[in-house]
Amino acid sequence: MISQAIYKDILAEYEKLTDDAKKKIELKKEICYKKCKRIKEIDDELNMTAIKISKAIIYAGKDEKQKYIEDIKNLTESLKKEKESLMAENGFSKNYFDDVYICNKCKDTGFINNKKCECFKQKLINKAYNMSNIAEIIKTENFSKFSLDYYSKQIDKENNMSPYENMKFIIRKCSLFVEEFDDKFKNMVFYGNTGLGKTFLCRCIAKELLDKGKIVLYVTAFNLFSIFENQKFNKDNEEINKEILNLVKEADLFIIDDLGTEFITSLSTTELFDIINSRILERKSTIISTNLSPDEIVKNYSNRIVSRLYGEYDMIKFFGNDIRIIKKLKNKV
Ligand SMILES: [Zn+2]
Repeated sequence: MISQAIYKDILAEYEKLTDDAKKKIELKKEICYKKCKRIKEIDDELNMTAIKISKAIIYAGKDEKQKYIEDIKNLTESLKKEKESLMAENGFSKNYFDDVYICNKCKDTGFINNKKCECFKQKLINKAYNMSNIAEIIKTENFSKFSLDYYSKQIDKENNMSPYENMKFIIRKCSLFVEEFDDKFKNMVFYGNTGLGKTFLCRCIAKELLDKGKIVLYVTAFNLFSIFENQKFNKDNEEINKEILNLVKEADLFIIDDLGTEFITSLSTTELFDIINSRILERKSTIISTNLSPDEIVKNYSNRIVSRLYGEYDMIKFFGNDIRIIKKLKNKV
């Protein structure tokens, strides 16, 4: 079964990640011990704790047992404190060992208390649908990289505003969305022509919220709709599809990129409506980006979807010239 193979692959990946992390920790320890021998002594001592306790349990007399164990615990505590201050004295920060992990939540094991970590679920999705890995993408794309330089300051007659002013306004809206995420339930539709930064902004928001520890699920409409189709017709991936559709409902923020590029069927629009509607009922935010105009949205999707979008979503219009083309032209000069 395909899903079993995918599971196996992912588990193997985690095994490698934890191995790598172990190696990195060993290297970091070496650096640490070189600077301060006492830290090594403490670590060695601490590593003996479990053995000492079991010895005490086996060999100590009934009355002494409790006292022995108490002593060992006290010693362990004081050693830990000593180590902490020695680390600080020698210039090692408290999270000196933290950056060895790609996911600090599960320490690259894929599991937290026997439950799958979000990073595991994201891997599942990526594997099953070859989706672009959001964690990788947003290493390079974030708000600080967003430049307004390519947006024209000339007033656009139809919109009574320059693309530059409009983008400034949109960026402010997006930062506010992130800032108020915990307190305000908001949904947005980014619409307008290609090459105006819609996808980029989606990813910026995703990054900011992932950094805040939120569960963010980012999918392209094309992939989302193939999940719907597979769930119905391809039983091989049943388990994974179920997992993904759960995540779609549970995620703190759900982003559907490029709505309108998918192959629309009546099944898929029903599924899409269910997701949009259940997230509204649960008061969980969703962002949709699309190149379709409002007229085209009305034409392509069911009335039920359209009414939810217009009723519960902020419709945010992007306009101006394709900045990717402008960037290319400028780079040539
Ligand atoms: Zn994780």
